[in-house]
Amino acid sequence: MPSLLAAATNTRDAGRTLPRRLAIGVALALAATSCAGAGGGKPRDTDRLLVVTTVAPITSIASSIVGDLADVEGIVPEGTNSHTYEPPPSVAALLADADIIFLNGLVLEEPIRQLATASMDGDAALVELGDAVLDDEDYIFDFSFPRREGNPNPHLWTDPTLAQRYASSVRDHMADLDPDHAEDYTANYEAFSRVVEGFDAAMREAFASIPADQRRLLTYHDAYAYFAQTYGWEVLGAIQVSDFSDPTGREVAELIEQIREEDVPAIFGSEVFPSPVLEQIGNETGARYVDSLRDDDLPGVPGDPEHSWLGLMRYDFATITEALGGDPRALTAFDPGPLPADQAVYPQ
Ligand SMILES: [Zn+2]
Repeated sequence: MPSLLAAATNTRDAGRTLPRRLAIGVALALAATSCAGAGGGKPRDTDRLLVVTTVAPITSIASSIVGDLADVEGIVPEGTNSHTYEPPPSVAALLADADIIFLNGLVLEEPIRQLATASMDGDAALVELGDAVLDDEDYIFDFSFPRREGNPNPHLWTDPTLAQRYASSVRDHMADLDPDHAEDYTANYEAFSRVVEGFDAAMREAFASIPADQRRLLTYHDAYAYFAQTYGWEVLGAIQVSDFSDPTGREVAELIEQIREEDVPAIFGSEVFPSPVLEQIGNETGARYVDSLRDDDLPGVPGDPEHSWLGLMRYDFATITEALGGDPRALTAFDPGPLPADQAVYPQ
């Protein structure tokens, strides 16, 4: 396995950033009335705009577009289950201070959306990126997100072509919010787009090295539906049931049967959802059990070059390619060129 993959292990006890709320509290204690923010005249400790995001991949994409023109702060701590995450009441203060809030949408962060609606400043904007870039008829309902429950699969950002649309939407909203810097946001978007397009070509090159009949995914967490559609993969199934519990014994038996019948060489667990069930399935079928995919927990720690949306995609797709008998070097060797330092706040 390429060293890049091995290097992306989790060491999330380091690299923490001073909580912004603490800094705000200190500033407010020093100055009861402070200057008006650019976002609409509410009291703030700084003239800088505050962009609030939810899961780390969206924080990374937003940060790529915002650069150093505003503060960017995520809410969902990395390594937690974003699908069931309930924000603590303290998050209300951050949401109240935001000039713009970017959610994934598609019902991923409903408790955050509700807290935002209740807490946010009247002049602030709430943007659900997934809903903004995808028409309702293009939502995918599948294994862990069945249509009968009404919640579409929300994992748009694991499809780079949709991540690019997220970036485009961030650019448009930032240009509206901060028109003086519209050209800067556009330049940042164009730089991000070039990276995505180069990486897209690397993905297609790496995937072409996997035998066509092996481009099939059986995962624990159901995070690759849009990716699979765009890049011509088949998702055989996702094991995690819709309430994020483990499957029943009967469901496991059926999966074992399916894996044997379809001769699936590898099955993929998720680092955020360690699953003894998937391990058992691997043992009983002989399929290789790879337990390290990630859908919203970035590799490494904040400040590492691979702690980014791109690093997440590189890690996942190189891992998948290698496990299915392909050559991941187009992905591991992909060089995005010099990128500005990511100064966003990623709760750990
Ligand atoms: Zn997920």
